[in-house]
Amino acid sequence: MSLSLDLTAAGAREALRPAPAPEKPSLIGLAREEMAQALVAAGLVPEKQARMRVQQLWHWLYVRGVSDFAHMFNISKDLRAGLERHFSIARPEIVEEQISSDGTRKWLFRFPPRGAGRPVEIETVYIPEEGRGTLCISSQVGCTLTCSFCHTGTQKLVRNLTAEEILAQLLSARDRLGDFPDRDTPAGAIVPAEGRKVSNIVMMGMGEPLYNFEAVKKALLIASDGDGLALSKRRITLSTSGVVPEIYRTGEEIGVMLAISLHATNDDLRDLLVPINKKFPLKELMEACRKYPGLSNARRITFEYVMLKDVNDSLDDARALVKLLKGIPAKINLIPFNPWPGTNYQCSDWEAIERFADFINNAGYASPIRTPRGRDILAACGQLKSESERMRKVDRLALEAMMIAGHGEA
Ligand code: SAH
Ligand code: SF4
Repeated sequence: MSLSLDLTAAGAREALRPAPAPEKPSLIGLAREEMAQALVAAGLVPEKQARMRVQQLWHWLYVRGVSDFAHMFNISKDLRAGLERHFSIARPEIVEEQISSDGTRKWLFRFPPRGAGRPVEIETVYIPEEGRGTLCISSQVGCTLTCSFCHTGTQKLVRNLTAEEILAQLLSARDRLGDFPDRDTPAGAIVPAEGRKVSNIVMMGMGEPLYNFEAVKKALLIASDGDGLALSKRRITLSTSGVVPEIYRTGEEIGVMLAISLHATNDDLRDLLVPINKKFPLKELMEACRKYPGLSNARRITFEYVMLKDVNDSLDDARALVKLLKGIPAKINLIPFNPWPGTNYQCSDWEAIERFADFINNAGYASPIRTPRGRDILAACGQLKSESERMRKVDRLALEAMMIAGHGEA
């Protein structure tokens, strides 16, 4: 494969927006009741008006995508000034925006320090496809888990993202894609969910979302709120390496679609690839999957399976996979391994992937190979990084060379 490296780096290393003032608490990411309490506690709104004000703000923040109180033109000037004094609704700083030759976009966001910490940087990826656009959102800076094939797994956890920071990725991406209605749309207008650039979200960026359960839950409930961002829960997928107790909670308390990073069909191999398997072995994981609420042929669990050469890519593995998933409404997503400097793994040969996919197809699972997207901007699975452990330039060049040489290419 020939790979184009003509990147459009919009203002590389240059902020596209000013950093928000960190000392003011944000209204983004608060549940309705919390927002009401915050408005009352700040003395801006009497208690009996709070619900109505929250409704107004909710519309401006999440339907209209406003990031400046001054634009909320059906709210009095005085109240807007009060809101401005007490709260922030500013977007995070965009440190870098890259656009791949295949249309994939990647943003590097910087969030201000929390408490005594440092500012953190995370990446969010947008993948446009025929008829839909998917935003891949991060939940943590780094990851505490150490899946042996994952680059994020080699980075220490710096911290959990807050609900605000998780939502900010969606709001900022929609800003940059022109996905919010025009400024002159009348206040309170109904804005259709159809035809949006971001039609789906996947919690498949950096981090293990179920190790940051409360913030992820809050953010996803706001993202799926019918009076706000209004993304259907069927268009939101949360990917986990298999944190079994929180899989049950996800089903009961969030209700989004589930993806499981399976990658192996027996405990010995899964212990090596996805070490959390030692704590929650396959039997318990598959039991939690079987019990996931609302499963049907139209609502399946996605099983992600990274294709590692001579590790998990034989026909016997494919056979074992089909057997393991028997009886679960499932989709299988075969992910060609994306290499990174220092890894000992290689991507399976194309023939091995096809052989594996054919077997899976014959067993009734459709189009299972995930085409790597945005490789020229290192936006593919497992390639996301953070400021804390930014890939050294020399490593980045090595990785680009590996990809151009077709290493691990599907
Ligand atoms: N932590 C969560 C979600 C983020 S990872 C999880 O593990 O599910 C998103 C997907 O990319 C996971 O299935 C993960 O196992 C896979 N992945 C990680 N590193 C990869 C790599 N180098 N090549 C291909 N897929 C990778
Ligand atoms: Fe963490 Fe997921 Fe990477 Fe495992 S695959 S180290 S859980 S981000």
